[in-house]
Amino acid sequence: MTAPHGATCRVEMQPGHIPESGPFSNEASRWYPGLPRRPQGALRRMLTSGIEYFPDKALELDAWRCPTCGRVELFALRPVAEAREAQAASPSLEIVAARLQEAGVKFTSLGGWAWRIETPGGQLVETTTQEDFDRVVAELDEALRTTGKV
Ligand SMILES: [Zn+2]
Repeated sequence: MTAPHGATCRVEMQPGHIPESGPFSNEASRWYPGLPRRPQGALRRMLTSGIEYFPDKALELDAWRCPTCGRVELFALRPVAEAREAQAASPSLEIVAARLQEAGVKFTSLGGWAWRIETPGGQLVETTTQEDFDRVVAELDEALRTTGKV
């Protein structure tokens, strides 16, 4: 879609999304028709905790942000299946993890942007901030690319 203009400031909004649950989620949040329905009956609630799920009716949410006042507006335009096809070209986290393991890289999450990363050469690096993480991953990415490992 073309960038919408916010109702208040009338400036072009920035595209964004809201992950389903926290960083590194595989899914963006979705819109479903109707109010949320909780499963009825104790056993059904135990087996299917949370809101009932209608994947065939789901639309992926785009979250556009006004750079002036920060107001976020949500748009639900694409069925989730269509959104998935658009992402199909990028490998799943499992494939990435397998490739990294093959390349001899080990990532251990310490929470948030704190990671312990073991390089193929056995060097141990710890990150604390997103800037740290981005820098270390970029260096590692470059090293792996030049050795043809990823
Ligand atoms: Zn605004």
